Amino acid sequence: MEMLHLEEVMEELRESFRSWKTRSAEWRKTQLRGLERLLQEKEREIYNALDEDLGKHHTEAYRDEIGILVKSLNLFLSSLDDWMASKKVHVPVIAFPTTGEVVPEPLGVVLIFSSWNFPFGLALDPLIGAIAAGNAAVLKPSEIAPACSSFLAKNIPLYLDNKAIKVIEGGVPIAERLLENKWDKIFFTGNARVGRIIMSAAAKHLTPVTLELGGKCPAILDHFSSLRDRTVVAVKRIVSGKWCLCSGQACVGVDYLLVEEKHASEVIEFIKDWLKKYYGDDPQKSHSLSRIVNKHHFRRLQKLIEDPLVAASIVHGGSMDEKNLFIEPTILLDPPLDAEIMTEEIFGPFLPIITLKKIEDSIEFINSKPRALSLYVFTKDKTFQKQVIAKTSSGSVTVNDTIIQFACDTLPFGGIGESGFGKYHGKFSFDAFSHGKAVLRRSLLNEMSFGYPPWNDYKLRFLRAAYNFDYIALFLLLIGLKRN
Ligand code: NAD
Repeated sequence: MEMLHLEEVMEELRESFRSWKTRSAEWRKTQLRGLERLLQEKEREIYNALDEDLGKHHTEAYRDEIGILVKSLNLFLSSLDDWMASKKVHVPVIAFPTTGEVVPEPLGVVLIFSSWNFPFGLALDPLIGAIAAGNAAVLKPSEIAPACSSFLAKNIPLYLDNKAIKVIEGGVPIAERLLENKWDKIFFTGNARVGRIIMSAAAKHLTPVTLELGGKCPAILDHFSSLRDRTVVAVKRIVSGKWCLCSGQACVGVDYLLVEEKHASEVIEFIKDWLKKYYGDDPQKSHSLSRIVNKHHFRRLQKLIEDPLVAASIVHGGSMDEKNLFIEPTILLDPPLDAEIMTEEIFGPFLPIITLKKIEDSIEFINSKPRALSLYVFTKDKTFQKQVIAKTSSGSVTVNDTIIQFACDTLPFGGIGESGFGKYHGKFSFDAFSHGKAVLRRSLLNEMSFGYPPWNDYKLRFLRAAYNFDYIALFLLLIGLKRN
């Protein structure tokens, strides 16, 4: 895209925002309904694009992307009027007589970068938030999922207001070109290295950012003593949180598993059982296992297990087929902790199991690493649950399951530290793209003299009362008025 063209696009977006049309509830709802129609009418094409880019099964695609978007649209359409309404707030006596409210207003023209692993979910969910909050927006889908990116570029203009919502396709050069412009918000999903680039570009214009990044999400599996059935269910959910989401290419996927030494071999057997149930004897023939997105990521993953010490720790799987971008679900037992597989986010179908003497040691282990996007703990011990929640820091903690927190739009979704900052999903998405403007309305009657010079100790006493006792002090203030 020529610079001139991009400038025109920016001007058109700004003009749309300045025209005030994006602020009306009607415009916002029309766009959200347009997205709803797009998902309904083009569902089959969406599955085809996801299959082409990632070999994602359409049921998995519905569970992780389309279904979540449909649910999100339902929530936004039913809640929008309430979210758009200004909210009255309590006003302290120091400002009496006054009313106060928070008025949500759109930020302006926003830029959304999405990542390739959930090319619809991670592009459209933030876009829903941006539209609902009344912004004009540009979506830059990831070039690494080209079929999905081109689907979005072709179809969004058919269903949404093309003067206020644009899809701009391209790789790094286009991303850099976009970043040269002044935006009112940048919402980025991707890795932390690029997150830093986004943030420094945004800093030039004082543009606020939300960074949805990744990292290594740990799972802790406590021993369920005699409750074998519970362990089996726990392991099932861990297997699902590792491999059943785009073959491990998921920001919230389980990166590694912490178990007590003495239970490791039993856990490995349970994992193997579930893998067999899910993907059969030959997982390469299974249609339920996504493929690695491209050769670059295939080789990146291949390199992670090339180190002889890491290769020696493989206890299951390890086979690969570059032509078909297939990597078998692979389990590693105690790979070296300084190997890349334990220092970098895996983002693929390898599960390192790290053994500990006592499960309580998992807290120290996790705290020695950068803060994760999600943390999973499987235990029936309520004290241990509380300890994990209180003594670790991560974007979220899920007890006795994996991934499901991502689908709960009443919870904020986002990271902390290396896993990013800013929150979205449900009302948090609306807030992420809104400015809560403080509005105070004061009466011109009843002037309180204690707030103005000439100063004296008497006024100081009333100020102390007002700041410390709020409305209880009102009475005193009113008496004070008479004496000043
Ligand atoms: P990616 O390579 O598709 O990059 C994401 C976006 O950044 C794309 O739009 C891309 O064009 C853009 N980009 C890439 N290089 C750039 C540059 N130099 N300058 C400007 N823009 C650039 O995706 P990825 O980074 O490979 O995605 C995987 C990472 O994203 C993992 O770390 C994963 O954990 C994280 N992730 C986080 C979430 C979340 O919701 N928190 C979701 C999915 C993925």
